[in-house]
Amino acid sequence: MVQSLGDGVWWYDLTGVNAALVDDGGTVTLVDTGMPWDGNRLVAGLIDTGFEPRDVERILLTHYDMDHVGGLSAFEQAGATVYVGTADANFVAGDRSPPLRNHKGALQRLTSPLVDAPDLPIEPLSDGETVGSFTAYHTSGHTPGHVSYVSESLSTALLGDLVREKRGRFHPSPWHLSYDIRDVRRSIQSLVEDAPSFEIAVPGHGTPFERGGSDRLADLAARL
Ligand SMILES: [Zn+2]
Repeated sequence: MVQSLGDGVWWYDLTGVNAALVDDGGTVTLVDTGMPWDGNRLVAGLIDTGFEPRDVERILLTHYDMDHVGGLSAFEQAGATVYVGTADANFVAGDRSPPLRNHKGALQRLTSPLVDAPDLPIEPLSDGETVGSFTAYHTSGHTPGHVSYVSESLSTALLGDLVREKRGRFHPSPWHLSYDIRDVRRSIQSLVEDAPSFEIAVPGHGTPFERGGSDRLADLAARL
């Protein structure tokens, strides 16, 4: 259920959506948490890799969507700190509802009753802020507060739903699942320009790449 992608980086294939587990210099870090019913699978994957749920100190969220924040409540006992892009933080905390005027916001409203606000500390992240070895890049478009995380020392990028993998290539977040598709394209271009190169690339959906991650993202940017 968890597959190693490289030293200290594991992929959770949660059936239709991805999450990742990272040993970030000794700090156990989860990136995204799957659907509301994926909590047990996240815990099982931790145990498979020799960790325990209470070892999880950080949960990095790429964005607010049911299939990425659903398993958060499984870590309430552990008291992990949740990190999320500023513009999505209020949605995760349950302090604000997604806007009905946007087609994607309306979709999020429909699914929000299935997602409980977690009883965990939530830290909003701005562009360029770091958590452990990861730098958060504000890559809005799929959601207003979407962030991608890149660790130079782990040569790893967690791209969330900025892109998805299909038939061996990256594709941008599609229109019907995005707040703003032009913003998605801009975010892909700026991430290619701003981030250091990386080998491992984990998209929110599809199969991660173990090699050539930043080259594949640059290839997508050139096709847009
Ligand atoms: Zn998703």
